Amino acid sequence: MNTPALSVIVPVYNEEANIPLLVGELVATLDTLDQPCEIIFVDDGSDDGSPQALREAREGDPRIRILSFEVNAGQSAAMVAGFRAARGDVIVNLDADLQNSPADIPLLLAQLPEYDMACGWRANRQDPWIRRLSSHIANAVRNRLSTEQIRDTGCSLKAYKRACLERIKLYDGMHRFLPTLFRMEGFRVVEVRVGHTPRRHGVSKYNIRNRLVPSFIDLLAVRWMKKRQIRYRLREEISESPD
Ligand code: UDP
Ligand code: MG
Repeated sequence: MNTPALSVIVPVYNEEANIPLLVGELVATLDTLDQPCEIIFVDDGSDDGSPQALREAREGDPRIRILSFEVNAGQSAAMVAGFRAARGDVIVNLDADLQNSPADIPLLLAQLPEYDMACGWRANRQDPWIRRLSSHIANAVRNRLSTEQIRDTGCSLKAYKRACLERIKLYDGMHRFLPTLFRMEGFRVVEVRVGHTPRRHGVSKYNIRNRLVPSFIDLLAVRWMKKRQIRYRLREEISESPD
């Protein structure tokens, strides 16, 4: 198999019914791209039929790789494990639940020569109103406190240059702040409108309690990191010239 140019990373936690559908749509999109690809599923300790569904998918397509955690370690951990295993120079991230369509991946890839990260922006979000409202408030607070202007940092459909991603140290929960962490390194980030559909199978792993409080604490950490970034402007450098 050719060394992949593109690695698609999908964190999976109890998504058994979504996996065959996702694989079908993902493979259809990847086959339109003229480059070798790999799909890395990171099974984050699922206790439903996801491990079996992933193994069956791999039997149908050897480009699929599976990493399985012993126990649930969280979405950030699953993403980091995928990033570390990825071989492509370009990495795409996607949830397993098909709320974002794999067919939008080329829209993000089209931005990458110019930008270091392309973030999906769910302009027409299809979630329950309480969820949309809490995300709206969370985005506003996040942008305000971290002096940022990202419309939809919660959209998991994102594409990155791997060389840039390797410069970012991720902590639990930090997958929600990737655009800011990229910009802090001087990398270029662009938002791209993508589609969004309601979850058809399985349930969201987050609710107001397990998302709002931890992500607010994380926001304070990111705000601190941003404020305390090392900044200086060199007036001149005087040193011996190399022979
Ligand atoms: N996920 C995971 N580990 C977790 C929670 C979620 O790997 O502990 C995966 C989940 O299977 C999905 C993605 O992360 O592929 C996002 O989760 P979910 O769709 O529940 O989040 P939402 O889109 O509702 O914010
Ligand atoms: Mg989702």
